[in-house]
Amino acid sequence: PPRRASGLNKPTVWNEFTPLARATSAVNLGQGFPDCPPPAFVARAAAAAFQNPQVSMYAPTRGHPRLLEAIARKHSSQLKREIKGTANVLATVGASEGIFLAVQSFVEEGDEVVVIEPAFDLYFSSIQMANAVARHVPLRSKSEQPSSSSELHIDMDELESAFSQKTRLLILNSPHNPTGKVFTQDEKEQIARVLRKYPDCLVLSDEVYEHLTFDGAKHVPFAATAPDMWDRTISLYTFGKTFSATGWKLGWAVAPVNLIQRMVNIQQHIVFCVPHPIQEAAAEAMESAEKPYEGSSSYYEYVTDTFNRKKDKLLDILRKTSLVPMDPEGGLFIMCNTTGVKAFVGKLPEEEEAIISAGNLEIDPSTRNLSDYNFCRWMTMDEEDAAGFQEPVVGVTDFSITGSSSCDYSDSSCAPVHDESSSRMQLY
Ligand code: PMP
Ligand code: GLN
Repeated sequence: PPRRASGLNKPTVWNEFTPLARATSAVNLGQGFPDCPPPAFVARAAAAAFQNPQVSMYAPTRGHPRLLEAIARKHSSQLKREIKGTANVLATVGASEGIFLAVQSFVEEGDEVVVIEPAFDLYFSSIQMANAVARHVPLRSKSEQPSSSSELHIDMDELESAFSQKTRLLILNSPHNPTGKVFTQDEKEQIARVLRKYPDCLVLSDEVYEHLTFDGAKHVPFAATAPDMWDRTISLYTFGKTFSATGWKLGWAVAPVNLIQRMVNIQQHIVFCVPHPIQEAAAEAMESAEKPYEGSSSYYEYVTDTFNRKKDKLLDILRKTSLVPMDPEGGLFIMCNTTGVKAFVGKLPEEEEAIISAGNLEIDPSTRNLSDYNFCRWMTMDEEDAAGFQEPVVGVTDFSITGSSSCDYSDSSCAPVHDESSSRMQLY
């Protein structure tokens, strides 16, 4: 592979663990998707859009006007400033393309990008494919076993020391994948103070979990921290997590006109445009989402409350095992301390070795001896020992993280998706 892709020519966690979950009929708690179908109003909007010849052909590069309008309305109230669909918004192929596009649009070869760790893996590959350099800043905790993601913090001196005159971009993600941390107003102001010393540094604020916040934590966009932070921030969102439709791969960016225009121009050369009927359906869904839904004042409020209940349920189950979970304030993941699980002996399970050598599974060879990866492999494969967990929680995941709140059996509006080919039991 060319240098910009060196080291990428192997499966990511998603492409090892999701096939492994399928092969072993394990419950997949590792990938960030809700395990319930899109609500009926969303599915209806999709059916209508695919029958509408007016949206069957290419969409404008920036996005389908009706969708841009719906997005602009949503974010104008969140950001407390007028967002214009025709100036401040760009539709993308999921937030994933938004990440790639933002890095391609603003980061020069040799530039540096500051990333808070742990982090979603695509940030690093996008930085690499731009021939840029990632600077890592860890989340820290005063206690060895934080009981909540709110105990995690950035050491602001450490953050500042990662910056240099070459820093072009800071990547923030709140609610945070994988810890669930929701950054507070005070933390955002401290980050803003560091940024003001670096006028050429933009911010990519990944806010895909904007509606998945728990126990009263509130998501406020980083761009709302101060007017000068709006001026330099590209905020990224996704339809998939909020509307249980990750397969639609629809996302969007919100930013000042000069930044969005640069991305629109580059978008012409990557995907040209986002699927038109998906945009029409999403526009219809977003217009409806503002209305009262299932006893909640809006669909968005319903999603927040429903996922909060699911998070609590999963947390209760995990607490009955020898895993020690950290209560997340948001997002789709629960991180667990695995050191109390004595049955796990640290090695790649023999069964997995057999599947790998039979050629049915590809893994990243550099992860073969990593105990956190091996723990997740063991959880997925070793049913007898995992049964020692007393509860049917067998998951696969990345970096010793387990979790994903999703569908609740007892919730009729959210019937379990039962797919024999992929899963024996989909509990959540
Ligand atoms: N950012 C984060 C933090 C994510 O967790 C994900 C997906 N899991 C994405 C971006 C990508 O979103 P999409 O599926 O819309 O491409
Ligand atoms: N983003 C998904 C997640 O966090 C997985 C696939 C991907 O987008 N790379 O669950």
